[in-house]
Amino acid sequence: MKKFVRLQNIPVSKPYLPSRERLDAYIDGIYQRAWLTNNGELVQQLEKRLKEYLGVEYLLLVANGTLAIQVALKALGVTVRDDLRPPQIITTPFTFVATASAPYWEGADVCFADIDEHTWCLSPESLETAITERTKALLPVHVFGNACYVEAIDLVAKRHHLKVIYDASHAFGVQLGQQSLLRYGDAATLSFHATKVFHTIEGGAIVFKNAEDLERARLLINFGITGPDQIDGLGINAKMNEFQAAMGLSMLDEIKPNLHERERVYRRYHKQLDGKVTFQKKNAYSSRNYSYFPILLPSERQTLDLISELLEERVVCRRYFFPSLDTVKYLSSKDECLVSRDIASRVLCLPIYSELTNEIIDRICEVVCKVVSSNQPM
Ligand SMILES: *Cc1c(COP(=O)(O)O)cnc(C)c1O
Repeated sequence: MKKFVRLQNIPVSKPYLPSRERLDAYIDGIYQRAWLTNNGELVQQLEKRLKEYLGVEYLLLVANGTLAIQVALKALGVTVRDDLRPPQIITTPFTFVATASAPYWEGADVCFADIDEHTWCLSPESLETAITERTKALLPVHVFGNACYVEAIDLVAKRHHLKVIYDASHAFGVQLGQQSLLRYGDAATLSFHATKVFHTIEGGAIVFKNAEDLERARLLINFGITGPDQIDGLGINAKMNEFQAAMGLSMLDEIKPNLHERERVYRRYHKQLDGKVTFQKKNAYSSRNYSYFPILLPSERQTLDLISELLEERVVCRRYFFPSLDTVKYLSSKDECLVSRDIASRVLCLPIYSELTNEIIDRICEVVCKVVSSNQPM
């Protein structure tokens, strides 16, 4: 075979691929059973192991993280068809678009409250100000795995009799104090998309506070079918299949070394960039899962400069999260979230994945330092 050097791009994230032997062993089982979906053996195994690993009681696997939000909203009775006026949901504009598009798709009125300039999570004060008599639920995001101020948010929700659904897509395995962050809220949703810390190619989960809500959701994800020849209500198809679960089980078998390598990458960046750029202020009581490495530049000009300088090194960074969702046209928001717009214009996520070499990390840090020191903020 002819050998040639291929210059590879360094992506912002690279899906973790578990060992083939491990994955094949699970897939052999699928072939023997010839059971591919509808709550199969591997889905049940993954559900059980994730509950243990995450330290939660009521977890339901679903097809992806977007459907996780939609199903959670329906299961908690937030978006129901017989409402005369659309329910209002308050969320953050500093997140992946699915956080807002999922409730919008469900027919909800999506409103935005602004974020805290340091933690980049919803500000509980801004959240409370945004509440109206039509508000039915809050949908905060533990953005980049940083725990929201859950106690303050839960107090606001109690005061106004609102449901709380956390989009915990970035918070796989994050602990708050001695327990899982996923235990907060009426529900917390996870995404297991290929680019996330833990993935099932496509996939997701909902962690509920109450068993009854989980049972309702279990019917919702399979067309509302309750038994042979029996349909008890509206449902959709949001089931996880056996091949997704096989990937998830293999990922879980290797989660320790994977996280260990991500921690190495994280620490190396942190050491070299500390004092040079601004970091997200972490909730002091929560742990990290090393899922992202976001940095904040002094100006948008420098952010764009850095993107092009890194591209010259074949390093692809992403402006997570830009644009601020309060500026997205179809969401036609009246709410101007100035803090979110400012952070979104200056934030950049650096590549982080287990195989990223120290050499490349050091090169990226050099470029960041060069751009920050050569450019004055406008
Ligand atoms: C990835 C992500 C989603 C969507 O999850 P999918 O599994 O891709 O549907 C939702 N919210 C946030 C914050 C995400 O990062």
